[in-house]
Amino acid sequence: MKIAMVGSGYVGLVSGACFADFGHEVVCIDKDQSKIDRLRDGIMPIYEPGLDALVESNVKAGRLSFTTDLAEGIAGAAAVFIAVGTPSRRGDGHADLSYVYAVAREVGESLDHDAVVVTKSTVPVGTGDEVERIIADTGCSHRVSVVSNPEFLREGAAIGDFKRPDRIVIGAEDDFGREVMREVYRPLFLNESPILFTGRRTSELIKYAANAFLATKITFINEMADLCEKVGADVQDVSRGIGMDGRIGAKFLHAGPGYGGSCFPKDTLALLKTAEDAGSPTRIVEAVVKVNDSRKRAMGRKVIDALGGVDAARGKTVALLGLTFKPNTDDMRDSPAIAIAQALVDNGVAVTAYDPEGMELARPLMPEVTMCDSAYAALEGADAAAIVTEWDAFRALDFGRMKRLMNAPVLVDLRNIYRPDDVRAAGFEYASIGRS
Ligand code: NAD
Repeated sequence: MKIAMVGSGYVGLVSGACFADFGHEVVCIDKDQSKIDRLRDGIMPIYEPGLDALVESNVKAGRLSFTTDLAEGIAGAAAVFIAVGTPSRRGDGHADLSYVYAVAREVGESLDHDAVVVTKSTVPVGTGDEVERIIADTGCSHRVSVVSNPEFLREGAAIGDFKRPDRIVIGAEDDFGREVMREVYRPLFLNESPILFTGRRTSELIKYAANAFLATKITFINEMADLCEKVGADVQDVSRGIGMDGRIGAKFLHAGPGYGGSCFPKDTLALLKTAEDAGSPTRIVEAVVKVNDSRKRAMGRKVIDALGGVDAARGKTVALLGLTFKPNTDDMRDSPAIAIAQALVDNGVAVTAYDPEGMELARPLMPEVTMCDSAYAALEGADAAAIVTEWDAFRALDFGRMKRLMNAPVLVDLRNIYRPDDVRAAGFEYASIGRS
């Protein structure tokens, strides 16, 4: 089966490469010429573990190709996926659907055969109806079924998630759409990945409900962590103690500096807008968004406290270890590190930083931060270190070397990757999350 993937970013490129690996013939399309040029030269435009090898082998096998020409790319494709960005619209927090609608228009104008058009982008309820209308308005005379197929992969583990998903959700309104999607996912179906067929609007909402629930879970344990600090309890044990309950589940119960990334912040906001517009406000998600927003800057204050408070912190230097919103990605969108660095800079603190993959994208977002070539280069002369992202590279830091390099042995561990006793035994002042 031939598949076209419009949008070759974190989702489009991974999905396209995985579909090709399953044996489909895939064309990844992007309007960013430099991205397509790099892909044709075998250079990955994003960092995702295993992606380079997957792309290389499928290009070699003749199943995966890249183009900026949408009409050429969708020619003969039974399924045309839309995997472009849906960022927050500036000003009001609604999802910005202009990229999705632009693709729908172009697809309608170029399509010369019957096809299923699939929104893989995260889109608010009703977007599929609008995509259908836009395609019809172009005068497209071919049979088109518009299907919703939200993506649940996680950056950093994207290939495994795509190939072995917990479930595949397909929202279709007709048999043509359902049949083509069944063919698209047949290889996964053979892997026994469950496919849930729903109506299109339901499928669109499932994606937002899933992200909002996960964001709520994280925010809940973050608030428990704050409470632990006040009452002398340990949030790691609270997480374990509640996570062992099968009704709760152990995942997404790791306290930290607040959720970030390219999905949770924008998707929770967009859900609030959908709910408001529908006259059915989601109060819990409203609280989650507010609590998480204030948490990121509060983490900056936590580092300032470790320096001895606002007055003592002025003129000092903090080294941030990790900048991306989570390990194994270069994605800096809405990373807590941005707000933490800003809070420090606003209080007259100089900031150095090191991240294994994120510094190129971080630089323009945090111009006042000095990027360094290694963790130890960032630590040189620092009055405190703060672990912001739990990259493996920071899990076994050489405390002796750190002490020799730093001005003062102060470590703020915003990911709880160390045991307090170990760090203190190494002669550090140590602060972490939810462990008094
Ligand atoms: P991205 O910004 O990495 O990629 C989007 C790509 O689309 C870009 O390369 C851009 O150049 C391209 N594009 C935009 N307009 C185009 C057009 N008219 N024609 C061709 N290409 C065009 O975005 P992403 O992170 O891959 O996210 C895509 C969608 O998937 C979003 O809706 C997002 O919410 C959703 N999603 C993302 C993740 C994730 O982890 N990143 C996970 C699940 C779902």
